[in-house]
Amino acid sequence: MLRRSRSRYPRSEKLFAAASRILPGGVDSPVRAFKAVGATPLFVSRGRGAIIEDADGHKYIDFVMSWGPLIHGHAPKGLVKALAAAAARGTSFGAPTELETRLAQRVATLMPSMERVRFVNSGTEALMSAARVARAFTARDKIVKFEGCYHGHADAFLVKAGSGAMTLGVPTSPGVAASAAQDTLVARYNDLDSVERLLAANPREVGAIFVEPIAGNMGVVPPRDGFLEGLRRICTRDGILLVFDEVISGFRAAAGGAQQVFGIKPDLTCLGKIIGGGLPVGAYGGRADIMALVAPSGPVYQAGTLSGNPLAMTAGLWSLENLSPRLYRHLAKLGARLAGGLADAARVHGVPLQVNAFGSVVTPFFTSEPVRDYESAAAADTEAYAAFFRGMLERGVYPPPSQFEGWFLSGAHTERDIEKTLKAARDTFKTSR
Ligand SMILES: *Cc1c(COP(=O)(O)O)cnc(C)c1O
Repeated sequence: MLRRSRSRYPRSEKLFAAASRILPGGVDSPVRAFKAVGATPLFVSRGRGAIIEDADGHKYIDFVMSWGPLIHGHAPKGLVKALAAAAARGTSFGAPTELETRLAQRVATLMPSMERVRFVNSGTEALMSAARVARAFTARDKIVKFEGCYHGHADAFLVKAGSGAMTLGVPTSPGVAASAAQDTLVARYNDLDSVERLLAANPREVGAIFVEPIAGNMGVVPPRDGFLEGLRRICTRDGILLVFDEVISGFRAAAGGAQQVFGIKPDLTCLGKIIGGGLPVGAYGGRADIMALVAPSGPVYQAGTLSGNPLAMTAGLWSLENLSPRLYRHLAKLGARLAGGLADAARVHGVPLQVNAFGSVVTPFFTSEPVRDYESAAAADTEAYAAFFRGMLERGVYPPPSQFEGWFLSGAHTERDIEKTLKAARDTFKTSR
């Protein structure tokens, strides 16, 4: 990028320079570094409702929302009060508290497939643990995942398809042992035939199929009609566990997640993000006979010093207790307006754009072809997205700093916020032409 004579973001730049001398890449999670959009990351000083403020005092309508957890917006009053009260009672005991049972009961009520629940500290930990339990239960080591789905950074999931559909998975990161990757088979999202081919080449060796029922980590890609039903049928037929990664879709697609929307019962479910209300929480659970294997009930070891932490459970409880039909109606309305408005603006200005949306998660893909899987998502013009992102940022809108992410709405976003965002989009498209 060209050096500007005077930056709009001098404090963020200074803070990033200091961070980069001590934190690898200046951040604690890669996407935050703005590398994909050719910019310096903004340092956030505070958030309230749908608005965040950066270190230089600029305000933005936030569509990252901590990457999904903040379905009620930043710092809702009731949550802040509940957290302060919980902190005053003690932040961690390493002993059971009633809060864990209450949150688990709430989860099971919203998602009846969750007959037993184990809390952990992140989505990554939930997926890693679910894979261990699934392998133990089926006595099969191989798992299937879909290209473009993200299941956290555990070794077994940092895998892409090798050359040719029958080959072993290959690591997507140095440091992942080939031996850890070779038991992960990679299928194509929305393509049941690709699953059948893998199963035929590895008969009775696959213990679990992991899927984001609504893909969110290649940008939003909803499941085709019959895709999830097909996976359920295949898994039941072959004695394979169906594991839904609802870390994003849980409590967002509906109070009961994608499994409620599509009426499909997975064997195991992984949760994160909203379940922690902005604090670090993950959970895995499902069929009681499978979860009975988890220690100390059974032999599958999995533990955590801060698992079920009282502050984290308090934030999760507050967030789930405040879900309501009204909230989902509001989110659906804003999501439809944002998606439709972005598509209209692009059409008017001759920008090739495909807007995928599912409720309150929206991705504008800079491509003229429909996006249904990883291959079609990867065809998007990331340079065009980067320019769009920078234009939006200058106009007071904070979209995700990558083409391949969802824009997240919250109950704190208003119709006015969406109209302001669409005006910023129109102005950005106009000047970039
Ligand atoms: C975010 C995410 C994860 C990982 O959760 P972390 O809390 O970041 O470890 C796993 N699966 C999906 C679908 C996610 O979106």
